[in-house]
Amino acid sequence: MVFIPYGRQSISEEDLQAVADVLRSDYLTQGPEVPKFERAIADYCGAAHAVAVNSATSGLHIACLALGLGEGDVAWTVPNTFVASANCAIYCGASVDFVDIDPVTLNMSARRLEEKLKIAKAEGYVPKVVIPVHFSGLPCDMAKIGALAQEYGFHVIEDASHAIGASYGNGKVGNCQHSDITIFSFHPVKIITTAEGGLATTQSAELARRMQDLRSHGITRDAARMAKPNEGAWHYEQLDLGFNYRMTEMQAALGSSQATRLDEWVARRHAIADAYDKKLAHLPLILPVRESGSFSALHLYVVQVDETKTSLTRRQLFDAMRKAEIGVNVHYIPVHTQPYYRENGMAGVSFPASEAYYSRCVSLPMFASLSDEDQARVIAVLEHIFTVPEHSLA
Ligand SMILES: *Cc1c(COP(=O)(O)O)cnc(C)c1O
Repeated sequence: MVFIPYGRQSISEEDLQAVADVLRSDYLTQGPEVPKFERAIADYCGAAHAVAVNSATSGLHIACLALGLGEGDVAWTVPNTFVASANCAIYCGASVDFVDIDPVTLNMSARRLEEKLKIAKAEGYVPKVVIPVHFSGLPCDMAKIGALAQEYGFHVIEDASHAIGASYGNGKVGNCQHSDITIFSFHPVKIITTAEGGLATTQSAELARRMQDLRSHGITRDAARMAKPNEGAWHYEQLDLGFNYRMTEMQAALGSSQATRLDEWVARRHAIADAYDKKLAHLPLILPVRESGSFSALHLYVVQVDETKTSLTRRQLFDAMRKAEIGVNVHYIPVHTQPYYRENGMAGVSFPASEAYYSRCVSLPMFASLSDEDQARVIAVLEHIFTVPEHSLA
């Protein structure tokens, strides 16, 4: 029996050729491939600017810095995300708090956000940055979050690590219609990959320039922005404290090559989800929603054990699937329950919707190259698990 992972990359001959071509060229870093990849993704999303970086984590960090997040400031995100969505604010010296999820969409609840904003304002502060996460590739209620940003005066960074290829209303996620900056991840489990890699889109030339500086040591070679007279052709100036967060040329070439198949892959993910929707409907599972008015990139297909219909626990389901060589996973352990966050202000704090969801969730295999045969095996194993008596599940 072959192990079926929950997610994996697809690499074509064209991808291999694109990377090999770069390795034979003059530039392995800071050449033409990164700007080309940035242009391709910016155009795809309908954003004016794109800044490629070496991970989404780096992208989130410099997005926070570009928006001026610093000591004494507060950022809000959701508990139901990867730790990077929260850590980025702490890197900047800010503190983090969470907004609970909507139990149906599993995304930031705009209603809870509004309630929390009212309380915060009454206490005399508002968050400087709010980071909604398009969980599983399903876009958040950005119109509402954007309207609250206008009303209360905070910035919005979309963590779209799961959502390249998704649409919201008439536009692609990444067009920043209701946000300042959108961040994508190109980790191998995500929709398209550059091995490690990330990218920020924005409509603001100023924010793009700040992020370009920050990804490369805070250094500029732009004569118009120099503080000192030009000392010669070698002259550059460090204007800010930045990092080395650059993407390599090989990564960008791989990304450009992968991006040509993005829409096809998202369509395949929808076909896989349609088959799961249909063939799992009779099992005691809560299946994921897809909303009208948006188009999910379907990074994840998450089912929840329906406690009202089965006594089988999530742990039993997970272990039985793994035993059958199905690489299920769990997304996510609520960030506020991590020991680091418990020790940094979150002890005794509860976000009930995220915690309840976490106790029931299992991510099934979902990736563009998942074969119909392998998906049929996943479904058959699930059916079997729910038909055998649970005491016989070791
Ligand atoms: C994967 C992921 C990240 C981090 O992406 P990297 O490119 O691995 O740094 C951040 N947020 C979410 C929601 C993710 O899924």
